[in-house]
Amino acid sequence: MKARACLVEAFKEPLRIKEITIPELEPGQVLVKIKAAGVCGSDLHIWRGEDPRIKLPLILGHEGVGEVAAVKGKKLTVEGKEVKEGDSILWNRGLSCGHCYYCAVLKEPSFCPHRIVQGINITCNEPPYLNGCYADFLILPAGIDVFHLPSGIDPAVLVAASCSGATAAHGFDLARPEPGEAVAVVGPGPLGLFAVAFARAYGASQVILSGGSQVRLEMGRTFGATATLNRHEQQPGERIAAVMDLTRGRGADLAVEAVGSAAALEEAIALVRPGGTVLSVGFGQPGGSFAFDGYQHLARRNIRLQGVWVSDTRHVYRAMAMILAHPQLFSRMITHRFPLEQVNEALEVMARKEAIKAVLIP
Ligand code: ZN
Ligand code: ZN
Repeated sequence: MKARACLVEAFKEPLRIKEITIPELEPGQVLVKIKAAGVCGSDLHIWRGEDPRIKLPLILGHEGVGEVAAVKGKKLTVEGKEVKEGDSILWNRGLSCGHCYYCAVLKEPSFCPHRIVQGINITCNEPPYLNGCYADFLILPAGIDVFHLPSGIDPAVLVAASCSGATAAHGFDLARPEPGEAVAVVGPGPLGLFAVAFARAYGASQVILSGGSQVRLEMGRTFGATATLNRHEQQPGERIAAVMDLTRGRGADLAVEAVGSAAALEEAIALVRPGGTVLSVGFGQPGGSFAFDGYQHLARRNIRLQGVWVSDTRHVYRAMAMILAHPQLFSRMITHRFPLEQVNEALEVMARKEAIKAVLIP
């Protein structure tokens, strides 16, 4: 039996569909029929060769939801239920070693130097070969954490749980805003929309969303933003003044950078109050730099600067739970759906920022 998969063989060249023989499963592995694969903003950076982790040839795609086609031996979900053929599942896309300093001592598996992420740092020449979600089948290595999904849920709505949703959940897990606080979010893409939803879930009294796309800003309102700032209509100084106005002259208690650019990080730093927290969730790859003034930016205002690198099973679970609690809301994020044959168009609508989230349906 063969699987069809979309391969990056050379950076910036169109992806090609190739047939790959499905190998015999090893104990603990799960063969998944992909029902939906998310096109992440990071996939564009990977395709352009901007992510230093990448080796080629690569089956792109690290956000997947699927149905179990086969299991070798016994495999349990995080809730201790046996994984069986026909089950709808989601999984933590990263597999860490469990035994290094970061995994075992710090309990921060995102830093594991041996961490494997399908669709990112394992080629299709390495076992189990079906190592990316832009395909009709994927093989989950033994040891990957798996969650059962309820029946009747649109798989496309859940793809973002494994990446932007989980990264936002990780960020809020570290920043932990207090109920009643004012949160500013810079960037209204999927990460920013999750940040808005998490801010509300943590009890924010205000969520001020800043960005350049009116359509995305309006969507932000449906996710719980109480005010929006359009950077094409308001200059940086006007946006800062607007946030000060809304926060009694103090600034946001928590400012979230959800773009992955130096300008967005600089804006988040400008929007936070003295003693507040700047949470940067946007950088999945290098995104430029700015002249950082330790006195002005950091010390004088006693701010806390919190970065976030990827996510762990705990965060994927939180993001999944958030989506399952509001499936109608999160379905609005899925603006485009394409078959595998139109993978290059799916990347283009993301590149042109026409889509909030494009999804491949094999
Ligand atoms: Zn991603
Ligand atoms: Zn490790």
